[in-house]
Amino acid sequence: MIQRACDSGVAGLLITGTSERESQAALEICQQYPDYCWSTAGVHPHDAAQVSASYIDILRQLASQPGVKAIGECGLDFNRNFSPAEAQIAVFKQQIALASELELPLFLHERDAWDSQMEILSGVNNLRGVAHCFTGTTEQMQGYLSLGLYIGVTGWLCDPKRGESLREALVHLPLDKLLIETDAPYLTPKTLPGKIRRNEPCYLPHIAETIAEIKQVSVATIAEVSSANAARLFGLKLR
Ligand SMILES: [Zn+2]
Repeated sequence: MIQRACDSGVAGLLITGTSERESQAALEICQQYPDYCWSTAGVHPHDAAQVSASYIDILRQLASQPGVKAIGECGLDFNRNFSPAEAQIAVFKQQIALASELELPLFLHERDAWDSQMEILSGVNNLRGVAHCFTGTTEQMQGYLSLGLYIGVTGWLCDPKRGESLREALVHLPLDKLLIETDAPYLTPKTLPGKIRRNEPCYLPHIAETIAEIKQVSVATIAEVSSANAARLFGLKLR
């Protein structure tokens, strides 16, 4: 899969940690491919009720490794509420504190929780991060931009129905805030030719092409700015 990503021109991968265990597993991949893969360490809101008593220490230890470039994904998800809202909020705030202690950016997840997410993030000093897999409205995007966040765009964009508000928001997104992501193994772009089930990084150029059409610029420009943005936010040395 990593070879296919390289072959398709992807400059590097940031592998998302979603729990204590998954963050460790993500780091192990980075240690095998140190100049191509980096990772995040964090607990997804779905897992907020399952954290161990020492999870912040575990995340802190992981994040002290050179391959770990952000805290997250963390945030709020009131769509499914797999963990109660109170647990989500507590675990989110603890990870925000860890990110500022370590001076790392946040890799932020939010679904059906924009107001609460904005309220919490508005109080954070020197906030840096990305609203990962953004699927909201133009107005919601402007809110995140006003906090200085980058916006992560996935294959959601290629969904003829569900992607409509994201395509509209993208028109207003400054290129210097654009990041491109997969959300793999989910969100395989629906406009890819053939029947592909599992999403993976080699399909990122397809998302770049779709963005280029909407922004009316070349694919090379999208590739260049999104790579430069990722390098700047996460401190990556891309090839
Ligand atoms: Zn997410």
